[in-house]
Amino acid sequence: MKVFENFESEVQSYARSFPVVFHKAQGENLFGEDGKEYLDFLAGAGTLNYGHNNKHIKGALVDYIAEDGVTHGLDMHTKAKGEFLQAFNDIILAPRDLNYVMQFTGPTGTNAVEAALKLARNVTGRENIISFTNGFHGVSMGALAATGNSHHRGAAGTSLSGVSRMPFDGYLGDDVDTNAYLDKVLSDSSSGIDKPAAVIVETVQGEGGVNAASVEWLQGLQAVCNKHDVLMIVDDIQAGCGRTGTFFSFEEAGIKPDIVTLSKSLSGYGLPFAVVLMKPELDQWKPGEHNGTFRGNNLAFVTATATLKHYWRTDAFAKDIQNKGKYVNKRLTAMVEKYSEGKFDARGRGMFQGINCIDGEIASKITKEAFKNGMIIETSGADDQVVKVFCPLTISEGNLKRGMDILEKAVERVCLQEDVIPNESDYFDNVQVDDDVKWVG
Ligand SMILES: *Cc1c(COP(=O)(O)O)cnc(C)c1O
Repeated sequence: MKVFENFESEVQSYARSFPVVFHKAQGENLFGEDGKEYLDFLAGAGTLNYGHNNKHIKGALVDYIAEDGVTHGLDMHTKAKGEFLQAFNDIILAPRDLNYVMQFTGPTGTNAVEAALKLARNVTGRENIISFTNGFHGVSMGALAATGNSHHRGAAGTSLSGVSRMPFDGYLGDDVDTNAYLDKVLSDSSSGIDKPAAVIVETVQGEGGVNAASVEWLQGLQAVCNKHDVLMIVDDIQAGCGRTGTFFSFEEAGIKPDIVTLSKSLSGYGLPFAVVLMKPELDQWKPGEHNGTFRGNNLAFVTATATLKHYWRTDAFAKDIQNKGKYVNKRLTAMVEKYSEGKFDARGRGMFQGINCIDGEIASKITKEAFKNGMIIETSGADDQVVKVFCPLTISEGNLKRGMDILEKAVERVCLQEDVIPNESDYFDNVQVDDDVKWVG
Protein backbone atom coordinates (compact mmCIF):
# COMPACT_ATOMS: atom_id res chain seq x y z
CA MET A 1 0.00 0.00 0.00
CA LYS A 2 3.09 2.23 0.25
CA VAL A 3 2.80 3.41 -3.35
CA PHE A 4 -0.61 4.94 -2.64
CA GLU A 5 0.57 6.57 0.57
CA ASN A 6 3.62 7.98 -1.13
CA PHE A 7 2.23 9.18 -4.41
CA GLU A 8 -1.54 9.57 -4.27
CA SER A 9 -3.25 12.67 -2.95
CA GLU A 10 -4.95 12.79 0.43
CA VAL A 11 -8.20 13.41 -1.45
CA GLN A 12 -8.81 9.68 -1.76
CA SER A 13 -11.93 8.54 0.09
CA TYR A 14 -13.41 5.10 -0.67
CA ALA A 15 -9.87 3.71 -0.66
CA ARG A 16 -9.73 4.54 3.04
CA SER A 17 -12.78 2.42 3.81
CA PHE A 18 -11.53 -0.58 1.86
CA PRO A 19 -7.74 -0.83 2.25
CA VAL A 20 -7.26 -3.54 -0.36
CA VAL A 21 -5.51 -3.49 -3.72
CA PHE A 22 -8.17 -4.73 -6.11
CA HIS A 23 -7.25 -6.34 -9.34
CA LYS A 24 -10.07 -8.26 -10.97
CA ALA A 25 -13.82 -8.04 -10.96
CA GLN A 26 -16.70 -10.03 -12.36
CA GLY A 27 -20.41 -9.51 -11.85
CA GLU A 28 -21.04 -8.62 -8.22
CA ASN A 29 -17.59 -9.74 -7.13
CA LEU A 30 -14.35 -7.82 -6.73
CA PHE A 31 -11.07 -9.65 -6.24
CA GLY A 32 -8.03 -8.40 -4.37
CA GLU A 33 -4.54 -8.75 -5.77
CA ASP A 34 -4.21 -11.76 -3.48
CA GLY A 35 -7.28 -13.35 -5.05
CA LYS A 36 -9.58 -12.74 -2.05
CA GLU A 37 -13.20 -12.32 -3.12
CA TYR A 38 -15.41 -9.41 -2.03
CA LEU A 39 -19.12 -9.02 -2.59
CA ASP A 40 -19.68 -5.57 -4.09
CA PHE A 41 -22.61 -3.74 -2.51
CA LEU A 42 -21.20 -0.35 -3.48
CA ALA A 43 -21.27 -0.94 -7.22
CA GLY A 44 -19.39 2.21 -8.14
CA ALA A 45 -22.02 4.30 -6.31
CA GLY A 46 -24.51 3.22 -8.95
CA THR A 47 -22.17 3.00 -11.94
CA LEU A 48 -22.17 -0.79 -12.02
CA ASN A 49 -25.88 -1.55 -12.19
CA TYR A 50 -25.04 -4.38 -14.59
CA GLY A 51 -22.08 -5.62 -12.55
CA HIS A 52 -18.39 -5.69 -13.37
CA ASN A 53 -17.25 -6.76 -16.84
CA ASN A 54 -20.74 -7.90 -17.74
CA LYS A 55 -20.47 -10.91 -20.04
CA HIS A 56 -23.35 -9.79 -22.24
CA ILE A 57 -21.70 -6.44 -22.91
CA LYS A 58 -17.98 -7.20 -22.97
CA GLY A 59 -18.00 -8.96 -26.33
CA ALA A 60 -19.30 -5.91 -28.19
CA LEU A 61 -16.54 -3.76 -26.68
CA VAL A 62 -13.77 -6.25 -27.39
CA ASP A 63 -14.97 -6.69 -31.00
CA TYR A 64 -15.16 -2.92 -31.54
CA ILE A 65 -11.62 -2.40 -30.28
CA ALA A 66 -10.33 -5.40 -32.28
CA GLU A 67 -11.73 -3.96 -35.53
CA ASP A 68 -10.16 -0.52 -34.86
CA GLY A 69 -13.48 1.21 -34.27
CA VAL A 70 -13.07 4.94 -33.58
CA THR A 71 -12.21 5.46 -29.90
CA HIS A 72 -12.07 9.24 -29.89
CA GLY A 73 -13.80 11.46 -32.39
CA LEU A 74 -14.66 14.69 -30.51
CA ASP A 75 -18.33 15.12 -31.37
CA MET A 76 -18.06 13.92 -34.94
CA HIS A 77 -20.62 11.45 -36.21
CA THR A 78 -19.56 7.86 -35.79
CA LYS A 79 -21.35 4.61 -36.53
CA ALA A 80 -21.21 3.77 -32.82
CA LYS A 81 -22.87 7.06 -31.89
CA GLY A 82 -25.58 6.64 -34.51
CA GLU A 83 -26.37 3.15 -33.28
CA PHE A 84 -26.59 4.34 -29.69
CA LEU A 85 -28.90 7.25 -30.56
CA GLN A 86 -31.16 4.90 -32.53
CA ALA A 87 -31.23 2.25 -29.79
CA PHE A 88 -31.89 4.79 -27.04
CA ASN A 89 -34.74 6.25 -28.99
CA ASP A 90 -36.26 2.91 -30.05
CA ILE A 91 -35.81 0.99 -26.79
CA ILE A 92 -36.11 3.67 -24.11
CA LEU A 93 -37.76 6.89 -25.30
CA ALA A 94 -40.38 5.84 -27.86
CA PRO A 95 -42.06 3.11 -25.76
CA ARG A 96 -42.32 5.56 -22.86
CA ASP A 97 -43.77 8.26 -25.09
CA LEU A 98 -40.87 10.59 -24.26
CA ASN A 99 -39.63 13.06 -26.79
CA TYR A 100 -36.11 14.30 -26.07
CA VAL A 101 -33.05 15.25 -28.01
CA MET A 102 -29.73 14.19 -26.56
CA GLN A 103 -26.66 16.24 -25.80
CA PHE A 104 -23.32 14.52 -25.19
CA THR A 105 -21.42 16.44 -22.53
CA GLY A 106 -18.05 15.79 -20.98
CA PRO A 107 -18.18 12.25 -19.60
CA THR A 108 -18.88 13.00 -15.93
CA GLY A 109 -22.18 13.47 -14.20
CA THR A 110 -21.24 16.88 -12.94
CA ASN A 111 -20.59 18.08 -16.49
CA ALA A 112 -24.07 16.97 -17.57
CA VAL A 113 -25.47 18.94 -14.63
CA GLU A 114 -23.45 22.01 -15.64
CA ALA A 115 -24.88 21.77 -19.15
CA ALA A 116 -28.43 21.31 -17.88
CA LEU A 117 -28.17 24.35 -15.61
CA LYS A 118 -26.64 26.52 -18.34
CA LEU A 119 -29.32 25.48 -20.77
CA ALA A 120 -32.15 26.23 -18.34
CA ARG A 121 -30.65 29.65 -17.54
CA ASN A 122 -30.05 30.56 -21.16
CA VAL A 123 -33.45 29.41 -22.39
CA THR A 124 -35.40 31.23 -19.67
CA GLY A 125 -33.11 34.23 -19.25
CA ARG A 126 -33.29 33.71 -15.46
CA GLU A 127 -30.39 32.92 -13.17
CA ASN A 128 -31.85 31.37 -10.07
CA ILE A 129 -32.10 27.59 -9.73
CA ILE A 130 -34.08 25.82 -7.02
CA SER A 131 -32.36 22.79 -5.58
CA PHE A 132 -33.28 20.76 -2.53
CA THR A 133 -31.95 20.11 0.94
CA ASN A 134 -29.53 17.15 0.93
CA GLY A 135 -29.37 17.19 -2.86
CA PHE A 136 -26.14 16.11 -4.54
CA HIS A 137 -25.40 17.12 -8.11
CA GLY A 138 -21.62 16.96 -8.43
CA VAL A 139 -18.63 19.03 -7.35
CA SER A 140 -17.78 21.38 -10.23
CA MET A 141 -18.76 24.93 -9.37
CA GLY A 142 -22.21 25.20 -10.93
CA ALA A 143 -23.30 21.74 -9.81
CA LEU A 144 -21.71 22.29 -6.39
CA ALA A 145 -23.83 25.39 -5.89
CA ALA A 146 -26.86 23.11 -6.25
CA THR A 147 -25.35 20.54 -3.85
CA GLY A 148 -26.22 20.71 -0.15
CA ASN A 149 -23.36 18.90 1.55
CA SER A 150 -21.20 21.32 3.56
CA HIS A 151 -18.06 19.16 3.32
CA HIS A 152 -18.16 19.39 -0.47
CA ARG A 153 -19.33 23.01 -0.56
CA GLY A 154 -16.54 24.00 1.80
CA ALA A 155 -13.91 22.95 -0.72
CA ALA A 156 -15.10 25.49 -3.29
CA GLY A 157 -13.09 28.34 -1.82
CA THR A 158 -15.38 30.83 -3.47
CA SER A 159 -18.99 31.81 -3.27
CA LEU A 160 -21.50 29.39 -4.68
CA SER A 161 -24.29 31.46 -6.08
CA GLY A 162 -27.37 31.39 -8.25
CA VAL A 163 -29.20 28.70 -6.29
CA SER A 164 -32.01 28.81 -3.69
CA ARG A 165 -32.57 25.79 -1.47
CA MET A 166 -36.02 24.37 -0.75
CA PRO A 167 -37.01 21.54 1.60
CA PHE A 168 -37.09 18.11 -0.08
CA ASP A 169 -40.02 15.75 0.42
CA GLY A 170 -40.20 14.74 4.09
CA TYR A 171 -37.58 17.28 5.23
CA LEU A 172 -40.02 18.86 7.69
CA GLY A 173 -41.70 15.65 8.73
CA ASP A 174 -44.21 13.43 7.04
CA ASP A 175 -47.13 15.79 7.54
CA VAL A 176 -45.67 18.79 5.76
CA ASP A 177 -46.13 19.13 2.02
CA THR A 178 -43.00 21.05 1.09
CA ASN A 179 -44.37 21.72 -2.39
CA ALA A 180 -46.89 24.03 -0.75
CA TYR A 181 -44.01 26.12 0.55
CA LEU A 182 -42.36 26.23 -2.88
CA ASP A 183 -45.66 27.24 -4.46
CA LYS A 184 -46.10 29.94 -1.85
CA VAL A 185 -42.67 31.55 -2.29
CA LEU A 186 -43.01 31.46 -6.06
CA SER A 187 -46.43 33.09 -5.82
CA ASP A 188 -45.25 35.85 -3.48
CA SER A 189 -43.27 38.63 -5.18
CA SER A 190 -41.86 39.60 -1.79
CA SER A 191 -40.73 36.11 -0.76
CA GLY A 192 -37.14 37.04 -1.58
CA ILE A 193 -36.75 34.01 -3.82
CA ASP A 194 -36.00 35.19 -7.36
CA LYS A 195 -38.14 33.56 -10.01
CA PRO A 196 -36.08 30.51 -11.00
CA ALA A 197 -35.12 29.14 -14.38
CA ALA A 198 -35.55 25.59 -13.13
CA VAL A 199 -35.74 23.23 -10.23
CA ILE A 200 -33.21 20.40 -10.13
CA VAL A 201 -34.18 17.31 -8.19
CA GLU A 202 -33.20 13.71 -7.52
CA THR A 203 -36.22 11.42 -7.15
CA VAL A 204 -34.21 9.42 -4.63
CA GLN A 205 -31.35 11.34 -3.06
CA GLY A 206 -28.31 9.10 -3.20
CA GLU A 207 -25.45 10.90 -1.52
CA GLY A 208 -27.96 12.76 0.65
CA GLY A 209 -28.98 9.60 2.52
CA VAL A 210 -31.36 7.53 0.35
CA ASN A 211 -34.30 9.90 0.71
CA ALA A 212 -37.02 8.75 -1.66
CA ALA A 213 -39.53 11.34 -2.80
CA SER A 214 -43.08 10.05 -2.99
CA VAL A 215 -44.84 9.73 -6.30
CA GLU A 216 -47.35 12.36 -5.12
CA TRP A 217 -44.60 14.80 -4.21
CA LEU A 218 -42.95 14.43 -7.62
CA GLN A 219 -46.28 14.99 -9.33
CA GLY A 220 -46.90 17.98 -7.09
CA LEU A 221 -43.47 19.40 -7.94
CA GLN A 222 -44.17 19.09 -11.64
CA ALA A 223 -47.50 20.87 -11.11
CA VAL A 224 -45.82 23.73 -9.23
CA CYS A 225 -43.23 24.02 -12.01
CA ASN A 226 -45.94 24.11 -14.66
CA LYS A 227 -47.97 26.66 -12.73
CA HIS A 228 -45.02 29.04 -12.42
CA ASP A 229 -43.49 28.35 -15.82
CA VAL A 230 -40.32 26.91 -14.30
CA LEU A 231 -38.36 24.09 -15.95
CA MET A 232 -38.07 20.76 -14.17
CA ILE A 233 -34.69 19.04 -14.30
CA VAL A 234 -34.51 15.49 -12.97
CA ASP A 235 -30.95 14.53 -12.10
CA ASP A 236 -31.24 10.81 -12.80
CA ILE A 237 -27.52 10.19 -12.72
CA GLN A 238 -27.71 7.80 -9.76
CA ALA A 239 -31.39 6.83 -9.60
CA GLY A 240 -31.73 6.22 -13.34
CA CYS A 241 -30.73 3.28 -15.55
CA GLY A 242 -32.95 0.84 -13.66
CA ARG A 243 -31.88 1.44 -10.06
CA THR A 244 -35.38 2.20 -8.78
CA GLY A 245 -37.03 -0.57 -10.82
CA THR A 246 -37.75 1.27 -14.08
CA PHE A 247 -35.30 2.74 -16.59
CA PHE A 248 -35.99 6.31 -15.50
CA SER A 249 -36.67 6.84 -11.82
CA PHE A 250 -39.59 9.17 -12.54
CA GLU A 251 -41.63 6.72 -14.61
CA GLU A 252 -43.76 5.59 -11.69
CA ALA A 253 -44.81 9.21 -11.10
CA GLY A 254 -45.83 9.51 -14.73
CA ILE A 255 -44.13 12.90 -15.03
CA LYS A 256 -42.22 14.24 -18.03
CA PRO A 257 -39.33 16.42 -16.90
CA ASP A 258 -38.14 19.13 -19.27
CA ILE A 259 -34.51 18.11 -18.86
CA VAL A 260 -32.94 14.86 -17.60
CA THR A 261 -29.31 14.15 -16.78
CA LEU A 262 -27.94 10.61 -17.01
CA SER A 263 -24.47 9.22 -16.38
CA LYS A 264 -23.12 6.61 -13.93
CA SER A 265 -24.65 3.34 -15.26
CA LEU A 266 -25.56 4.64 -18.71
CA SER A 267 -22.55 3.01 -20.40
CA GLY A 268 -23.50 -0.25 -18.69
CA TYR A 269 -19.84 -1.09 -18.24
CA GLY A 270 -18.44 1.48 -15.87
CA LEU A 271 -17.07 3.62 -18.70
CA PRO A 272 -17.26 7.43 -18.37
CA PHE A 273 -20.33 8.70 -20.18
CA ALA A 274 -22.90 11.42 -19.54
CA VAL A 275 -25.80 12.94 -21.43
CA VAL A 276 -28.45 15.60 -21.12
CA LEU A 277 -31.91 14.89 -22.48
CA MET A 278 -33.99 17.93 -23.29
CA LYS A 279 -37.37 18.62 -24.82
CA PRO A 280 -36.71 19.61 -28.46
CA GLU A 281 -37.99 23.16 -28.02
CA LEU A 282 -35.39 23.75 -25.31
CA ASP A 283 -32.54 22.81 -27.60
CA GLN A 284 -31.43 26.37 -28.17
CA TRP A 285 -27.70 25.72 -27.98
CA LYS A 286 -25.46 27.39 -30.50
CA PRO A 287 -22.83 25.07 -32.01
CA GLY A 288 -20.09 24.25 -29.51
CA GLU A 289 -21.43 26.56 -26.77
CA HIS A 290 -20.97 23.77 -24.27
CA ASN A 291 -18.24 21.41 -25.36
CA GLY A 292 -15.66 19.02 -23.91
CA THR A 293 -12.85 17.02 -25.47
CA PHE A 294 -14.30 13.73 -24.30
CA ARG A 295 -17.95 14.44 -25.09
CA GLY A 296 -19.34 11.28 -26.56
CA ASN A 297 -17.15 8.38 -25.54
CA ASN A 298 -17.32 5.94 -28.44
CA LEU A 299 -16.43 2.91 -26.33
CA ALA A 300 -19.30 3.84 -24.06
CA PHE A 301 -21.65 4.18 -27.06
CA VAL A 302 -20.86 0.58 -27.93
CA THR A 303 -21.38 -0.79 -24.42
CA ALA A 304 -24.47 1.36 -23.80
CA THR A 305 -26.08 0.08 -27.00
CA ALA A 306 -25.29 -3.52 -26.07
CA THR A 307 -26.78 -2.89 -22.60
CA LEU A 308 -30.02 -1.45 -23.95
CA LYS A 309 -30.42 -4.30 -26.42
CA HIS A 310 -29.73 -7.00 -23.87
CA TYR A 311 -31.63 -5.68 -20.84
CA TRP A 312 -34.30 -3.20 -21.87
CA ARG A 313 -36.07 -4.59 -24.94
CA THR A 314 -38.71 -6.21 -22.72
CA ASP A 315 -39.90 -5.45 -19.20
CA ALA A 316 -38.46 -8.69 -17.78
CA PHE A 317 -35.37 -6.97 -16.34
CA ALA A 318 -37.45 -4.21 -14.72
CA LYS A 319 -39.69 -6.86 -13.13
CA ASP A 320 -36.65 -8.70 -11.84
CA ILE A 321 -35.28 -5.50 -10.25
CA GLN A 322 -38.66 -4.82 -8.64
CA ASN A 323 -38.79 -8.33 -7.19
CA LYS A 324 -35.27 -8.07 -5.84
CA GLY A 325 -36.18 -4.69 -4.39
CA LYS A 326 -39.12 -6.22 -2.53
CA TYR A 327 -36.86 -8.90 -1.12
CA VAL A 328 -34.28 -6.32 0.03
CA ASN A 329 -37.01 -4.21 1.62
CA LYS A 330 -38.35 -7.23 3.48
CA ARG A 331 -34.92 -8.14 4.80
CA LEU A 332 -34.00 -4.57 5.80
CA THR A 333 -37.33 -3.96 7.50
CA ALA A 334 -36.96 -7.20 9.45
CA MET A 335 -33.41 -6.42 10.62
CA VAL A 336 -34.31 -2.93 11.68
CA GLU A 337 -37.18 -4.21 13.77
CA LYS A 338 -35.35 -7.14 15.23
CA TYR A 339 -32.03 -5.53 16.20
CA SER A 340 -32.65 -1.81 16.64
CA GLU A 341 -36.06 -2.04 18.26
CA GLY A 342 -37.34 -0.04 15.32
CA LYS A 343 -35.01 2.88 16.03
CA PHE A 344 -33.30 2.58 12.67
CA ASP A 345 -35.41 2.83 9.56
CA ALA A 346 -35.31 1.00 6.25
CA ARG A 347 -35.71 3.39 3.35
CA GLY A 348 -35.58 3.76 -0.41
CA ARG A 349 -37.22 2.45 -3.54
CA GLY A 350 -36.50 -0.47 -5.90
CA MET A 351 -32.86 -1.50 -5.53
CA PHE A 352 -32.04 1.95 -4.16
CA GLN A 353 -32.31 1.22 -0.44
CA GLY A 354 -30.59 1.70 2.86
CA ILE A 355 -30.81 1.65 6.62
CA ASN A 356 -30.88 4.97 8.43
CA CYS A 357 -28.93 4.30 11.63
CA ILE A 358 -29.44 7.92 12.79
CA ASP A 359 -25.83 7.93 14.00
CA GLY A 360 -22.89 8.00 11.58
CA GLU A 361 -20.61 6.09 13.93
CA ILE A 362 -23.02 3.21 14.18
CA ALA A 363 -23.49 3.10 10.42
CA SER A 364 -19.74 3.07 9.96
CA LYS A 365 -19.33 0.24 12.48
CA ILE A 366 -21.86 -1.77 10.50
CA THR A 367 -20.07 -1.26 7.17
CA LYS A 368 -16.71 -2.11 8.79
CA GLU A 369 -18.17 -5.27 10.27
CA ALA A 370 -19.60 -6.25 6.88
CA PHE A 371 -16.22 -5.58 5.27
CA LYS A 372 -14.59 -8.03 7.70
CA ASN A 373 -16.93 -10.60 6.22
CA GLY A 374 -16.01 -9.82 2.65
CA MET A 375 -18.63 -7.26 1.72
CA ILE A 376 -17.98 -3.83 0.23
CA ILE A 377 -20.73 -1.50 1.42
CA GLU A 378 -20.73 2.23 2.17
CA THR A 379 -22.65 4.92 3.98
CA SER A 380 -24.24 8.14 2.76
CA GLY A 381 -26.11 11.09 4.22
CA ALA A 382 -25.16 14.34 5.93
CA ASP A 383 -23.56 12.46 8.83
CA ASP A 384 -22.85 9.25 6.89
CA GLN A 385 -25.67 7.80 8.95
CA VAL A 386 -27.25 5.67 6.23
CA VAL A 387 -25.91 2.25 5.24
CA LYS A 388 -26.51 2.24 1.52
CA VAL A 389 -27.44 -1.12 -0.01
CA PHE A 390 -26.33 -0.73 -3.61
CA CYS A 391 -25.45 -4.01 -5.28
CA PRO A 392 -25.52 -4.59 -9.04
CA LEU A 393 -29.08 -5.08 -10.32
CA THR A 394 -27.91 -8.21 -12.09
CA ILE A 395 -26.80 -9.88 -8.83
CA SER A 396 -27.69 -13.56 -8.54
CA GLU A 397 -30.40 -14.46 -6.06
CA GLY A 398 -27.86 -16.51 -4.12
CA ASN A 399 -25.45 -13.62 -3.74
CA LEU A 400 -28.23 -11.19 -2.90
CA LYS A 401 -29.29 -13.46 -0.07
CA ARG A 402 -25.68 -13.92 1.02
CA GLY A 403 -25.18 -10.15 1.04
CA MET A 404 -28.27 -9.58 3.13
CA ASP A 405 -27.10 -12.31 5.53
CA ILE A 406 -23.70 -10.63 5.95
CA LEU A 407 -25.39 -7.28 6.49
CA GLU A 408 -27.83 -8.73 8.98
CA LYS A 409 -24.98 -10.27 10.99
CA ALA A 410 -23.21 -6.91 11.01
CA VAL A 411 -26.34 -5.06 12.14
CA GLU A 412 -26.95 -7.63 14.85
CA ARG A 413 -23.38 -7.47 16.16
CA VAL A 414 -23.18 -3.70 16.22
CA CYS A 415 -26.61 -3.30 17.80
CA LEU A 416 -25.69 -5.77 20.54
CA GLN A 417 -22.36 -4.03 21.20
CA GLU A 418 -23.89 -0.59 21.47
CA ASP A 419 -25.59 -0.17 24.83
CA VAL A 420 -27.48 2.89 23.78
CA ILE A 421 -29.00 3.20 20.37
CA PRO A 422 -29.61 6.90 19.91
CA ASN A 423 -33.18 7.98 19.66
CA GLU A 424 -34.31 10.04 16.70
CA SER A 425 -34.73 13.62 17.87
CA ASP A 426 -38.22 14.63 18.74
CA TYR A 427 -37.58 17.95 17.03
CA PHE A 428 -40.65 17.75 14.87
CA ASP A 429 -42.94 17.19 17.82
CA ASN A 430 -41.81 20.54 19.18
CA VAL A 431 -41.94 22.61 16.03
CA GLN A 432 -44.92 24.87 15.68
CA VAL A 433 -46.03 24.95 12.08
CA ASP A 434 -48.52 27.67 11.30
CA ASP A 435 -50.31 28.64 8.13
CA ASP A 436 -47.83 31.35 7.27
CA VAL A 437 -45.11 28.76 6.82
CA LYS A 438 -42.41 30.60 8.69
CA TRP A 439 -40.11 27.65 9.22
CA VAL A 440 -37.73 27.98 6.32
CA GLY A 441 -35.48 30.69 5.04
C1 LIG B 1 -22.70 10.99 -8.88
C2 LIG B 1 -23.71 12.04 -9.09
C3 LIG B 1 -23.42 13.22 -9.78
C4 LIG B 1 -22.02 13.59 -10.22
O1 LIG B 1 -21.48 12.69 -11.11
P1 LIG B 1 -19.89 12.65 -11.29
O2 LIG B 1 -19.67 11.69 -12.41
O3 LIG B 1 -19.31 12.18 -10.00
O4 LIG B 1 -19.45 14.02 -11.62
C5 LIG B 1 -24.44 14.12 -9.99
N1 LIG B 1 -25.68 13.87 -9.58
C6 LIG B 1 -26.01 12.74 -8.92
C7 LIG B 1 -27.42 12.51 -8.51
C8 LIG B 1 -25.03 11.80 -8.63
O5 LIG B 1 -25.33 10.69 -7.95
